[in-house]
Amino acid sequence: MSLMMDGETAGTGRKENNNTPYEYLQGRREGGLILVCDHAGNAFPEGADQLGLANAQLERHIAYDIGAAAVTRQLSKHLQVPAILSRYSRLFIDLNRSADDPTLVMRLSDGAVVPGNIGLSKADIKRRIADYYEPYHETVDRCIDQAIEAGRPPVLFSVHSFTDRWKGQKRPWHATVLWDRDPRVPCPLIAELRKDTDLVIGENVPYTGELKGDSMYRHGTQRGIAHALIEIRQDLIRSEAGQQEWAERLARILKKFLSDKQNKALLHRVRYYGSHADDPIRTGILTDNRKETTNMAEIDPKLATEIEAAAFRRLVSHLRERGEVQNIDLMNLAGFCRNCLSNWYREAAADRGLELSKEMSREIVYGMSYDEWKDRHQTEASGDQLKKFAETQAQNGH
Ligand SMILES: [Zn+2]
Repeated sequence: MSLMMDGETAGTGRKENNNTPYEYLQGRREGGLILVCDHAGNAFPEGADQLGLANAQLERHIAYDIGAAAVTRQLSKHLQVPAILSRYSRLFIDLNRSADDPTLVMRLSDGAVVPGNIGLSKADIKRRIADYYEPYHETVDRCIDQAIEAGRPPVLFSVHSFTDRWKGQKRPWHATVLWDRDPRVPCPLIAELRKDTDLVIGENVPYTGELKGDSMYRHGTQRGIAHALIEIRQDLIRSEAGQQEWAERLARILKKFLSDKQNKALLHRVRYYGSHADDPIRTGILTDNRKETTNMAEIDPKLATEIEAAAFRRLVSHLRERGEVQNIDLMNLAGFCRNCLSNWYREAAADRGLELSKEMSREIVYGMSYDEWKDRHQTEASGDQLKKFAETQAQNGH
């Protein structure tokens, strides 16, 4: 029996009731997918006196992600997978922050003062973490544990929404995907969403998916679980019709993507990609993209190296995404292929005294072993391709 008993949440039989800081929606544990919605609710625990805020403030984006809960619920229903949703407002405690983040408990949000958060002691915040923050995250963790125990590391999909206007400017994206280093879900997800040419789909805007300690960092990055976060523009999912439209769209895409044979092997395994957020310099670049354009000559050499590395990572991620492009075609057209890139990596490492094996340098570029990649993507070279290859090799003096 894969479904949990009524009212029992993931794990050790902890009973969910109206006071637990999360809502748990049942689903197939072996469904391969877990949904999370960190900013679902705009309620407050009893006795919190809604932090002294007027009701009108609670309906604003500062209190929760408008429409995100409904989309998550419907998505859970369509795909019959578990979902964990926050019950309380992000203003009470922000579940999508690390416990030591200064914005964990906001005293001021988009112009609104939050009276109940002013003058809190460290102990007050600790209590909120213990009573409202940890139980939510422990539930997500247990849910992942159960899927792993059932033999299938799940995919994590996080649903958020963003305000359509910010500081007077209308935001252009219909939805945007935030991600850090693990490309397994975001790359194909973005590609699928962009197939609908009526949609403007952003990537790591208006926020970056590289926030250390946020919900995806904790449950995805650190555990090696494939994950992505979608932000949907709030005006599109304010109405029931809009919520339904987006839930159906995402269900269709996720279903297709999760049932793809090639994806399955890659997605449902624990694999560590690390995080850009662990690199302070890169974080500095990404979080301050409003800076004026800089003259190249002013860039600190270390920073320049970081930027070059970021461009390299993007090239690698692009090549991984475009698995259908054959190495032999790359060779024929441009005189290099993924193996060359692996060799360049290996040589650059060797120049700095680090000996890497051929296999390891290839795995860095392919994101998997070379054999596995060939199994998945390499097609038999045609006579034409081989002929052209021989010609270009001769020209290049190889
Ligand atoms: Zn959010």
